[in-house]
Amino acid sequence: MSTKKQNSARAVDAVSDQPLGDFESLDLAKELRQAVREAGYKRPTPIQQAAIPLVLSGSDLIGCAQTGTGKTAAFALPILNRLLMDGRGKSNDLIRTLVLAPTRELAAQIGASFESYAKKTRLRTMVVFGGVKKGPQVNALRRPPAILVATPGRLLDLLSDRALSLSEVEYAVLDEADRMLDMGFIHDVRRILSTLPKQRQTLLFSATMPREVEKLAAQFLDCPQRIAVDPVSSTVEPIEQSVHFVEKREKTGLLIETLRSSSQALVFTRTKHGANKVVRQLAKAGISAAAIHGNKSQSARETALAAFKSGRTRIVVATDLASRGLDVKELPLVVNYDLPNEPEVYVHRIGRTGRAGSVGTAVSFCSREELPYLGSIEKLTRRRLDRIGSEPKPLTGSESRAESRASAARPATTRPARPRRRSDRPYGNRSQQAGEGNAPPRRRRRAKPAGGRPSNGPPRSRRGGKGSGARPGVER
Ligand code: AMP
Repeated sequence: MSTKKQNSARAVDAVSDQPLGDFESLDLAKELRQAVREAGYKRPTPIQQAAIPLVLSGSDLIGCAQTGTGKTAAFALPILNRLLMDGRGKSNDLIRTLVLAPTRELAAQIGASFESYAKKTRLRTMVVFGGVKKGPQVNALRRPPAILVATPGRLLDLLSDRALSLSEVEYAVLDEADRMLDMGFIHDVRRILSTLPKQRQTLLFSATMPREVEKLAAQFLDCPQRIAVDPVSSTVEPIEQSVHFVEKREKTGLLIETLRSSSQALVFTRTKHGANKVVRQLAKAGISAAAIHGNKSQSARETALAAFKSGRTRIVVATDLASRGLDVKELPLVVNYDLPNEPEVYVHRIGRTGRAGSVGTAVSFCSREELPYLGSIEKLTRRRLDRIGSEPKPLTGSESRAESRASAARPATTRPARPRRRSDRPYGNRSQQAGEGNAPPRRRRRAKPAGGRPSNGPPRSRRGGKGSGARPGVER
């Protein structure tokens, strides 16, 4: 909370092997302890144990934790505590906390968590994101909440409409910080942070934190403490992970077989078109499934998600829009129908299962063209997936080029939608975008074929580089 210049991150290794205490020992207000008890939490998770005292002490923080480890409460509880403790005499109608999240679903989920932890207090939370009408948000903001959770695009729209002020923000959180700070969001994030008071506490939380992004993050933090409860980019232990080697045309048959034995499953495809196609193919086999992707309206997405979370829908086929943040209690199975071309996305996708201590299974289908993606995933997670079927040989250079040409000739529906109107472009009316969180759409570049690599973009050694072609966690 002092000058912004000294931002060399002081490393504090979180002590995940230390015996876990209980919430009573964390010095939280009784209203919060009660809410936590009612949520059924018995003891803090390692990230909560490490982060809560640091946030309570006023430190800026870079937190790395695996998905499903209780990250949200790790920042929400101490922030709420500080709002309560420092709020005496302050109006409850000032935005004192801003949480930025990359996707609408994640923003909604964080908002719901804040609400549940703050239910015994008078602190109000509001969530704003694009894809829904702005008018009701503008009206609701006439009585500002203490906590605002937002996706960047809609927040900028509301700021430029002067529908809200961030001049009283004391706590800023960038959740899924790696994504928030990548090339697509960095300008929006900078613009938003520039409107906040310099005297504030800033927290970054993320499951994956490439070094470049961490350096960038340091610009926004003041002497941050750093906690890494689990190795960065590792996957959660209770998830059984396997890869099936399968030809592209045989994936649907294998999927049908795989789904038969599971009570519920989330299936990931690389494209919206692919998700729709899989849903149609499953329907033909008598398996009903819902699709969630950026071409669906916000209300259709919310309805499908609610039905899935409540267990009324057994199968959801989704793009990476659902790879982050989505919290479905005890989801037993994640299927990667297509392997993601960015290895970090794999970590996020499979993190939808095996959450909060439950067990889960992640099955990935890998065709010959996708072998390089598998290599990148295993390198990042430092784990060899259990293999089922015989591993094909990698494509030769000429086969790879032929695949690349075939891919370029595929119908336009398989490719990312282009912005259609001026207002769909960056800094236009982003609420119109099909994409997530109103991130500016990336300029599309056809990926160059690289020796032995699939045509729709080689695995990248790091995220956020130019021409990545795809934004994981952000609809394509
Ligand atoms: P998150 O990583 O914040 O998305 O949290 C994942 C899941 O863990 C959510 O369903 C939370 O409600 C749950 N959770 C968070 N903290 C705890 C805790 N201390 N004990 C049990 N479950 C928790």
